[in-house]
Amino acid sequence: MAYDQNNIFARILRGEIPCNKVYENDHALAFNDISPQMPVHVLVIPKGPYTNLEEFHAGASVEEMGGFIQAVAETAKLSGVTESGYRLVANNGVDAHQEVPHFHMHIFGGRPIAGRMIKAQD
Ligand code: AMP
Repeated sequence: MAYDQNNIFARILRGEIPCNKVYENDHALAFNDISPQMPVHVLVIPKGPYTNLEEFHAGASVEEMGGFIQAVAETAKLSGVTESGYRLVANNGVDAHQEVPHFHMHIFGGRPIAGRMIKAQD
C-alpha cells in the first residue's frame, strides 16, 4: 500500500498539526490520543513512513525498530503505568478497523481494564 503522506500522523510529524507530546526520540514520537478511552491513552508512532506493521518490519532499520520499542516503554514509564500495568494495542489493517494509515501503538492504562483477556469486541 502506498503511504499517504497527508494522513493525520504524517502531518503531526511535519509539525503542521499540534499534538500533546509525551515523549520523543530519534525514531519515534508519543502523544496523547485526542479522544482518550482510558485515563492514560497515548499513541506511539515511528517517524518513518510506514502504514502498518508489515511495512515497518520490511522497511525499518534495527535502530528504528529499537527506537520505537524504547519509546513505548519510556512513554509507559512517563505516564506512570509501568507498575500498575497497561495494555498495548495496534489496530493493523482493515479487519482491525485501523483508522489512521500510519503504524501506531496505543498505550491504555490508568485504571483496571475490564476483562483479563484481550477483548476483540466482535
Ligand atoms: P486506530 O487507527 O483505529 O488505531 O485509531 C487512531 C487513533 O488516533 C484514534 O484513537 C483517534 O482518537 C486518534 N487520533 C486521531 N487524530 C488524532 C490527533 N490529531 N491527535 C491525537 N490522536 C488522534
